[in-house]
Amino acid sequence: VAAIPYRPLAGTGRTVGPPPSAVATPSLEAVRRQNLGALLRYVHLHGATSRSELTNELGLNRSTIGALTADLSAAGLISEETFRETGRAGRPSLVVRPRSPRVYAYALSIEVDRLRAARVGLGGKVLDGRDAQRPRGLQILKTIGPLIKLVQDMEGAVPADSIYVGGGVAVAGMVRRGDGMVHVSPNVDWVDEPVGEALGAELGHDRPLVVGNVADLAALAEHTRGAAVGLDNMIYLHGDVGIGAGIIAGGRWVTGHRGYGGEAGHMVVNPAGRACGCGSRGCWETEIGEYALLHHAGRDGATGRDAVRAVVQAAALGDRAAGIAVRRVADWLGFGVANLVNIFNPETVLFGGTLRELYLAGAATVRSRIDSMALPVCREHVQLRTPMLGDDAPLMGAAELAFEPLLADPLATGTG
Ligand SMILES: [Zn+2]
Repeated sequence: VAAIPYRPLAGTGRTVGPPPSAVATPSLEAVRRQNLGALLRYVHLHGATSRSELTNELGLNRSTIGALTADLSAAGLISEETFRETGRAGRPSLVVRPRSPRVYAYALSIEVDRLRAARVGLGGKVLDGRDAQRPRGLQILKTIGPLIKLVQDMEGAVPADSIYVGGGVAVAGMVRRGDGMVHVSPNVDWVDEPVGEALGAELGHDRPLVVGNVADLAALAEHTRGAAVGLDNMIYLHGDVGIGAGIIAGGRWVTGHRGYGGEAGHMVVNPAGRACGCGSRGCWETEIGEYALLHHAGRDGATGRDAVRAVVQAAALGDRAAGIAVRRVADWLGFGVANLVNIFNPETVLFGGTLRELYLAGAATVRSRIDSMALPVCREHVQLRTPMLGDDAPLMGAAELAFEPLLADPLATGTG
């Protein structure tokens, strides 16, 4: 396992990649905790795994693996069962699996047009889920009541001996890592809203609740169990009214000094363009966000994902205005991606949210703009793709964030 530099996120101490290997003669207890975390993380990511595979993958001997699985099993985090290959003689192997229905996190997302809540089991299995519409423009703090209601609706079905490990929230907005403050601009005045604190207080659990940006968490989910597994240089672009970017470079999130970095949607691409909600002019999101597409298609006044899909479908059926709008916006999409490709030299760029439809409809235009603008050495190997986890990527990333404290120190979190 390559050592990935340690970079805490939102107070959870998580890194994007696997935990760093031990350095400088740590105590036996520290080594044990690290090994417990590594084993639990392995089965969380890979599902049922034989003890012999764990021995190989984690580079530990059989008796150490036996001791670790005994501890994790006693804490109720994994189960072990004998597995005998059918029709073959030989020693049966013990198979270790995460106790998915019993150990769970809440994953929440506050999106532009909807609120989602899911109960996600260890191993990444969605055990239950609810959604509600969010009226466009409803103040972010006012979404907390309806979101809590979704969680309460699920709580009735939680078995009595379950272990709740914490919650994660994906928010369509700028999130200050560390304390869950969401920086929003309802008009042009920026204000901070304490979303993490307010949700944590309402939820009333004694477990951490961590908040992240939708695009960052979607990037995390795709990096953990989606289209970018094993890729340390990737960009996830999420489109709705605005554009969010989750950028992983060299195995780390690009966050900047105060956690607000990576705001590719506010990269100015057209100084002669339209005013942006941020107070600037010609930001990338004014050229490729939902309003731009609908405006160019002559559909001012329409809003939402369905309206975007309708334009893309009309373009496919030969509607001239819709076709021009799709090509124009796809061209601006390629324009921005070309700049990002030159700066970050990613292995893959994923298009999520409304950008998924737009990319699928205008892939040739996007590619041709990148080919005409980006440096050959940066663009040659870049793969342009849609998210493997689809629209669930932000929610699954929120769950990964919620599981992180448990995976970092299973016995401290798992049995509390
Ligand atoms: Zn802007």
